[in-house]
Amino acid sequence: MVRLRPHHLLCLLTFVGEGYTPEFVANFDAIVRRIGAGEAIELIDGRDDVCAPLDATGDDHCASASVSRRDRAALLALAESGLALDARPLRLERERVAALRDAFAAGTIRAACRGCSWADLCTSVAAGGYRGSPLGAAPQGTTGV
Ligand code: SF4
Repeated sequence: MVRLRPHHLLCLLTFVGEGYTPEFVANFDAIVRRIGAGEAIELIDGRDDVCAPLDATGDDHCASASVSRRDRAALLALAESGLALDARPLRLERERVAALRDAFAAGTIRAACRGCSWADLCTSVAAGGYRGSPLGAAPQGTTGV
């Protein structure tokens, strides 16, 4: 089970191997592949499995109020999207990833991205058809909960 804060549901759509530190990138890459292979997601408040490598360095970025605001904005936009993300446990099947990516590219679920330093990269990844993303790179159903 991957523990994920809500705005990271967006970030995993556009992850192409960029991030704050090599450890952060390696960890996020592994998480994205696990989710892409069918592992369940538990949505949580605050620091999650993606944050862990930054937390380990003492960086308190993930505990900031602005990051919590991103989570609230993401939850609201996703709830309003009609993409039925309320399943528990939540899994991102290919169809759900495709629907999320369409909505992300259309800008309808990107309120959480406002002011994010990675926004231009994520816009460019979406515009490029999410090429280079490890999400969906492995067959689904290859990992358990
Ligand atoms: S712009 Fe920022 S919050 Fe939005 S998906 Fe990219 S990294 Fe995540």
